[in-house]
Amino acid sequence: MARVALVTGGTRGIGAAIAVMLKGAGYRVAANYGGNDEAANAFEARTGIPVHKFDVGDFAAVKAGVATVEAELGPIEVLVNNAGITHDGMLHKMGEDAWHAVIRTNLDSVFNLTRAVIEGMRARGFGRIVSISSINGQKGQMGQANYSAAKAGVIGFTKAVALENAGKGITANVIAPGYVGTDMVRAVPEEVMKAKILPQIPVGRLAEPDEVARCVLFLVADEAGFVTGSTLTANGGQYMV
Ligand code: NDP
Repeated sequence: MARVALVTGGTRGIGAAIAVMLKGAGYRVAANYGGNDEAANAFEARTGIPVHKFDVGDFAAVKAGVATVEAELGPIEVLVNNAGITHDGMLHKMGEDAWHAVIRTNLDSVFNLTRAVIEGMRARGFGRIVSISSINGQKGQMGQANYSAAKAGVIGFTKAVALENAGKGITANVIAPGYVGTDMVRAVPEEVMKAKILPQIPVGRLAEPDEVARCVLFLVADEAGFVTGSTLTANGGQYMV
């Protein structure tokens, strides 16, 4: 029986690439999203992947959303924590709202989702959890104290979860992408991209969303059971940990 995978933020950008690649590899996939119904409906129509709207930052909503996915597809064996937002600003100008919104959507979400699936994974003796962090959680970034903190938090969380569940057939890993050519990054003005961003990337270009999806596919495989607690960087050589 094909394994069931849930991808949060799976209707756009990197998450959509992950959902489509997992489906292509034979997984039964559900894609979560937060608010953009139009993009989600278009994604579902294009891919045949069912979409589920719930706020990943809301513990109760996540519990209910996971229950709905499991009622439709069966127990979730692969969880991809991908949903994320930015709300940038220098710390000395950052309001409490910007801090909490980013921590909630990028870090609380990883607890909420993982907590909702971990007992079932432990009971069944199998699970694959992959969380999408960022190069900026590893090296820090001007204007992103909130985002860098959340993304670094995902790495620490994952190491603890990997240790707690290593004896239960469950792996937990992180992918830390550099700049990926999603809508958000492609909206950067071309002159800024050419003058400021591309010169920082030794490979000389942005990543394609599929290049992050390939990392996920590797980590969630049944055969990847010895890889746990790791952070896989995919940043074109921009930052080497
Ligand atoms: P996009 O903005 O293209 O897509 C974000 C997805 O997350 C959408 O499906 C969105 O749903 C969903 N989402 C946002 N907030 C919530 C919420 N509260 N509840 C449920 N779903 C939500 O993002 P990217 O593809 O660019 O990024 C994906 C991940 O990769 C993020 O974690 C990001 O931090 C990380 N990353 C991205 C990089 C890049 O260069 N793009 C680099 C490094 C890391 P909706 O459509 O409804 O808004």
